[in-house]
Amino acid sequence: MNPILSVKDLAVEFATYGGSVKAVRGVSFDLNAGEVLAIVGESGCGKSVTFQTLMGLIPMPPGKITRGNAPFEGRDLVSLSDKEMQGIRGKEISMIFQDPLSSLNPTMTVGNQIAEVLIKHRGMSSEEARNEAIALMKLVQIPEASERVDQYPHQFSGGMRQRIMIAIALACKPKILIADEPTTALDVTIQGQIIELLRGLRKEINMAVVLITHDLGVVASLADRVAVLYAGEIVESGPVGDIFKKPSHPYTLGLQAAIPNPLKPEKTDLKAIPGSPPDLFSPPTGCAFAARCPFAMEICTRENPPIFDLSDNRKSKCWLHHKNAPSNLRAEVAHA
Ligand code: SF4
Repeated sequence: MNPILSVKDLAVEFATYGGSVKAVRGVSFDLNAGEVLAIVGESGCGKSVTFQTLMGLIPMPPGKITRGNAPFEGRDLVSLSDKEMQGIRGKEISMIFQDPLSSLNPTMTVGNQIAEVLIKHRGMSSEEARNEAIALMKLVQIPEASERVDQYPHQFSGGMRQRIMIAIALACKPKILIADEPTTALDVTIQGQIIELLRGLRKEINMAVVLITHDLGVVASLADRVAVLYAGEIVESGPVGDIFKKPSHPYTLGLQAAIPNPLKPEKTDLKAIPGSPPDLFSPPTGCAFAARCPFAMEICTRENPPIFDLSDNRKSKCWLHHKNAPSNLRAEVAHA
């Protein structure tokens, strides 16, 4: 498959008074047309920074891309000027955020906010844009769209506001939708509706979706593939079923043990991962998870593990996959 976006060895740092924070430390992944790729990991692991960097939303400085590239249809996203990025952002790649209320303009009707994108990026007249805004509101299943197009964000519920954000994001039929914790601020019933909506829309307009979340329930319902981030690095990636059924990295195992597994409802004893993520002012030389890993070996604190290809579509960044790793530890991970 030819990926529409290939991110290669992306590294991002932030200059602060206390030193340089290495927030993203060599992230690589491919995104294929029409697929849903979930990016999971704890808060502060670099999930949002990675995609905000690709969208040109991180102020530089204090941010700085120290290496890497991200070809998207022949253009490297990380080398484009602000002006070039404006032509892509909201048009070819769109993003929705966790809190729709703070993303919407409270002084403009929702119809005008959707129409603004259509006029700017698709060159529509005001009347065409208004009609298309109503069509988009219907597409995201907002009832009485023709009347509600003239209402303001505060007149909508949280779930409906998220639908408006999705309508704005879809206005230009983007090739990629980046959804950053799209359901975190919503109650469980509305979460389910938004997931259903994204699932249907992704098929309808064949758009790739990047789902940034810490909620494995959302991942299981929507994603095709998963990439697990820890301390600014992807430590494991693969098809969603494989990652849930047979995780191969101790951090993924820890994540699964800490939260209810939607594919293993019989597992009710939840265990927290001990310790906390490393200080990214001065990341460890070896594996970033070593201080918390129950399987850590001598080499783990000394050398950063390479990425091991476990099969065509599965990767894991862990020394346990080295041919010389102790077989008893490998067996323990396999049967955990
Ligand atoms: Fe644990 Fe070592 Fe694997 Fe890191 S490389 S996850 S410390 S076993």
